[in-house]
Amino acid sequence: MKKILQDLNFSEVEQLVLASGEKKFRARQLFEGLTAGRKISEISSLPRAFKDKLLEEYEDEPVKIKEIFRSADGTEKYLFSLADGSLVEGVLMKYKYGCTQCVSTQVGCRMGCNFCASTLGGLVRNLTAGEILAQILAVNALHEGDEALKGRGREARTVTNIVLMGSGEPLDNYGETVKFLRLVTAGDGLNVSARNISLSTCGLVPKMYELANEGIPLNLTVSLHATSDEERERVMPVAKAYKIEQILRACAYYFERTGRRYYFEYTLIEGENCDEAHARALVSLLKGRPCHVNLIRLNEVKERSLKATGEKEAYRFLGLLEKGGLSATLRRQIGSDIGGACGQLRASYLERAGDGQD
Ligand code: SAH
Repeated sequence: MKKILQDLNFSEVEQLVLASGEKKFRARQLFEGLTAGRKISEISSLPRAFKDKLLEEYEDEPVKIKEIFRSADGTEKYLFSLADGSLVEGVLMKYKYGCTQCVSTQVGCRMGCNFCASTLGGLVRNLTAGEILAQILAVNALHEGDEALKGRGREARTVTNIVLMGSGEPLDNYGETVKFLRLVTAGDGLNVSARNISLSTCGLVPKMYELANEGIPLNLTVSLHATSDEERERVMPVAKAYKIEQILRACAYYFERTGRRYYFEYTLIEGENCDEAHARALVSLLKGRPCHVNLIRLNEVKERSLKATGEKEAYRFLGLLEKGGLSATLRRQIGSDIGGACGQLRASYLERAGDGQD
């Protein structure tokens, strides 16, 4: 695989340009072209010879949109292919305030949560920072002329909010994920506010402390899904390594360092984690903490036997949390008609492709 230019920040691009014997102003043209989602070969302001030289070493289009699925509610789901043929997926959710893109940080995942399709084939490889970024560049470019989807601000790009909730465990690919966060928030890059970025982790405690110390004020989200360590171990193998108590301490540290409240994802799984006793246990775990709980009804994965909770029961569970004094919402289920859950699209593509490989 060739190298990826989107891995570089502006000053690194500038060094590259100077080292290639080009004039300094070419760096701005190159970086702006990449930030606008152009392929190297398509950046019309650059001389042909320079582009050809770059293309000997760098991928022209490190992330391609291979397929687009459009949901009746407007949600778009993408299957992206990477330069080595690996597949990852992403989602674009349209809201009144702008568009949120869900990005992937790894091909596959090794965390093994038993309700999640991303883990079905284990971890294939980590994405580089530039490959994470290029998922967003590709979606902005796709919607470039689309007035209705323009975000606010000078650049008026489509993607205004980002969630790191696609395939992979972002904190298991820590270095590249943090590099991505620095690239995407850079004032001379896409300039997305860290406050509009949510990073979801299954609870890799030591990395949560490291992230708190990076000084990036994003929304930290932890996938909890259970109220006791024993029950959590049944659905998330990572719970054997890190206890809920340790997670809560790391979250408190995150708040102390960043002043940002934190979030919990709680997927409602029929017969597993959503009766009245669970609601009470969740209230006693989280009451008084500066946090918010996002409930999600399980998106059933056909390779797994777990069942979703009914809508009525989900609202009842939400009511119990609110009565107990927690701040909580039940996520609208969007895009479920197009395999909205983590890893479902890639899994079904690999199945259709028939060889189980990319
Ligand atoms: N590895 C990270 C981020 C990827 S998963 C994490 O564990 O948080 C993003 C969110 O989607 C997590 O809360 C995860 O538990 C949830 N999720 C995965 N599969 C799901 C499914 N089939 N139905 C509902 N939520 C699911």
